[in-house]
Amino acid sequence: MQQTIDCFELARAGGELRGAYPLGQLQRLASMLAGRDGALVWRLRGWREYAADGLARDFMALSVVATVQMACVRCTGPVSVEIQVDRAYRLVRSEAEAERLDLADHEYDVLAGSCRFDLAGLIEDEVILALPAMPRHECCELPGAEAAAAVEARDAAASCPAPPGRTRPFAVLERLGNDAQNTDMIED
Ligand SMILES: [Zn+2]
Repeated sequence: MQQTIDCFELARAGGELRGAYPLGQLQRLASMLAGRDGALVWRLRGWREYAADGLARDFMALSVVATVQMACVRCTGPVSVEIQVDRAYRLVRSEAEAERLDLADHEYDVLAGSCRFDLAGLIEDEVILALPAMPRHECCELPGAEAAAAVEARDAAASCPAPPGRTRPFAVLERLGNDAQNTDMIED
């Protein structure tokens, strides 16, 4: 998926762009999902402000909404996850300036702008960052939970009484424990 924009021009003009990307065309994102169907919808707004020093400062605000399918960490089945991204960026002219200012600016993320800015890449990055680390259904069971419960019930039914003529291993341990205690008492 490729879409580049001139983000300084967007800010200067106070413009707004809208669009939708099919999830299947965002390869990095799609590889993290349980399904490739659906699309994300995005909106990007730019504006320019003038600081007290008279210098222009450029900004962008990005909103993205999507419903994606992820693998549930408990049952591994697909679970629908609502994604909502709302971010505001201050645009600067270089990566070096972005790094320097990012530490000082707590209100905006500082982003190195470009006249051929990789918008699709930014949107994909933001959605990946917004994915939950542990997607899960509100109510579901581990795979094979029913089978495990059936095995437990069967074992419980078979465990007692012990078949006649067979030594119960735990009885042997108990007897050994008693013998050891008796020996200690004698030595004291
Ligand atoms: Zn689940």
